Amino acid sequence: MTDLTLPTYDNVLAAAQRLEGFAHRTPVLTSRTVNEALGAQVFFKCENFQRMGAFKFRGAFNALSKFDDAQRRRSVVAFSLGNHAQAVALSAKLLGMPATIGMPEDAPAMKIAATRGYGGNVVLYDRYKEDREQIGRDLAEKRGLTLIPPYDHPDVMAGQGTAAKELFDEVGPLDAFFVPLGDGGLLSGSALSTRTLSPDCEIYAVEPEAGNDGQQSFRSGNIVHIDTPKTIADGAQTQHLGNYTFPIIRRDVNDVLTASDAELIDCMCFYASRMKMLVEPTGCLNFAALRKMKAQMSGKRVGVLISGGNVDIQRFAELVAGQ
Ligand SMILES: *Cc1c(COP(=O)(O)O)cnc(C)c1O
Repeated sequence: MTDLTLPTYDNVLAAAQRLEGFAHRTPVLTSRTVNEALGAQVFFKCENFQRMGAFKFRGAFNALSKFDDAQRRRSVVAFSLGNHAQAVALSAKLLGMPATIGMPEDAPAMKIAATRGYGGNVVLYDRYKEDREQIGRDLAEKRGLTLIPPYDHPDVMAGQGTAAKELFDEVGPLDAFFVPLGDGGLLSGSALSTRTLSPDCEIYAVEPEAGNDGQQSFRSGNIVHIDTPKTIADGAQTQHLGNYTFPIIRRDVNDVLTASDAELIDCMCFYASRMKMLVEPTGCLNFAALRKMKAQMSGKRVGVLISGGNVDIQRFAELVAGQ
């Protein structure tokens, strides 16, 4: 752990070039209703409109496009709660290599189906009993595949940072930026872009109330491990931050906040009814926290990174019907 070379904003810039022509430059939306309700100016960077429906395409494609010929021939393996699986499967397809993907058997059906749809060879596992990282390493060793983890990898982190880069390029510096937190790939990449493009911007990470390992780690200064949390935010059912992501988070992030499942459902309803878009529960974490900070955010320019929109429509209907 001593000689980790952490990625920098230069790596984000290089990733942005690799992604040119492959990733969508997603829209930045505003809502008069939100601005009036919060007394702030809020900019939503909509990665729910990214290819495969989430920002994870950025990190996966950046990592896979750096493979050498031998790695391309032997191909890639990934393990994922859902969106990284789709991201690796689609990136591999675009780059002409096969992909083997470990996914939890209770991952949303649409995420499993989409991963198979992109040509990924899906291997299912029990996330409450089996260790996904061990499964990934086993597959990598047995078959000689290159393992691309969903977050704790400099190329993945740099790729994820390109969404925040685009946001700042488009709207200029902000006072505060709210980012969902799972394992910290998105957050650490976003922090690299923020500290260069809007150095004084406060960065708030938001994770599920049911699993606040990130908050505990941030506040204690050590990576805290927890059991897989039970929450509807399936993209953030994570157990610990990574060796690469944690130092950047500690250095660059202002605070780690939490949101409850009920607050996530409320945000899903808001996004659907007022902004006409489908956002998955994990993608609602940051807006849920921002809505609780009205007093502190009054008069400020605030960024909200909507991380993804992959939720089964049936599941969406069930969740919002409970409201
Ligand atoms: C993966 C994911 C996150 C969390 O990202 P990390 O890099 O694991 O912190 C948030 N939202 C969505 C939609 C995701 O797929």
